[in-house]
Amino acid sequence: MQDTLGRNIRYLRLSVTDRCNYRCRYCMAEDAAFLPEEALLSLEELEGIARAAVACGVEKIRLTGGEPLMRPGLPELCRRLRALPGLRELVLTTNGSLLPVYAGALRAAGVDRLNISLDTLEEESFGWITRTGRVEQALAGLKAAREAGFSPDKIKLNAVLLGGVNHRQIPALAALAREEGYSVRFIELMPIGEASGWPKERFVPAQAVLKALPELRPAGNEGVTELFSAPGWKGTVGLIHPMSHRFCSDCDRIRVTADGMLKPCLHSAAELPLRGLSGEALEQAIRAGIRAKPEGHRMDGCRPSESARGMNKIGG
Ligand code: SAM
Ligand code: SF4
Repeated sequence: MQDTLGRNIRYLRLSVTDRCNYRCRYCMAEDAAFLPEEALLSLEELEGIARAAVACGVEKIRLTGGEPLMRPGLPELCRRLRALPGLRELVLTTNGSLLPVYAGALRAAGVDRLNISLDTLEEESFGWITRTGRVEQALAGLKAAREAGFSPDKIKLNAVLLGGVNHRQIPALAALAREEGYSVRFIELMPIGEASGWPKERFVPAQAVLKALPELRPAGNEGVTELFSAPGWKGTVGLIHPMSHRFCSDCDRIRVTADGMLKPCLHSAAELPLRGLSGEALEQAIRAGIRAKPEGHRMDGCRPSESARGMNKIGG
């Protein structure tokens, strides 16, 4: 379905939980409070919302969180969503730590692709960023995904650029694209939630990647991601720059939070309740959400996101 500005909305990011086993500094506070269990959409409600969204023209669903693999019953939900007629792609964003347990079940359930967050390969900075995580967990998750049958072209590795923390890791992370064939994507830090008051030195423009890797050449676009590669490279490097180049005019997505609120825009405070709706009423509410998409965000160097929620409570 098209929104009022003619953007075709085909992509739903559906959050299944706000909980996480990590406490990434840019995402949530160390003592973050979580939604009570009963506030989370049930698996049936999640399936109903996905079904209605597909009826409204959504072709791709990304399950996210919080850490989606902390949600009990997730492989079964994936299996049900994958069976929705009209859904072209089911993908999942994860910190990777629980993939050694779930990768096989996700593959068997029909998950098409995985995005694994990997901001750094250094133990020390990984520990600093995640507060509770170890880089070996993410790497074990990546290995488990490969062993379960997710080939490198089905795995994206996402790194948020953090000035003074992981900016020197750009070549090491990009080597996973060059040598292994993964798609490695560098994402600009956004001033939302915990990161909204961070000093400007932390916000590194995605162009820094091209400075660190001058051999890279443009290799097209994939949605809002600008792709680059070089002769002899097996995979691509992607740049996602919500801050330095706004891509709102190409935005094709809506979000639903784990407690059932439709967010037409990641960075707007607007939310529409979906809980308790079914059938035509649910589809109408989703269409209203699509029509309510604003033209774009208003973040800039000094103005933070207007979203009232942090990333784990939205579904990044
Ligand atoms: N737990 C999963 C993970 O980390 O991949 C899924 C949820 S997490 C909220 C989704 C993505 O949002 C992660 O890649 C994370 O790095 C990103 N993220 C969180 N806070 C962010 C921020 N302030 N700016 C940019 N990206 C952010
Ligand atoms: Fe958890 Fe992902 Fe947020 Fe890190 S970015 S705290 S892994 S939800």
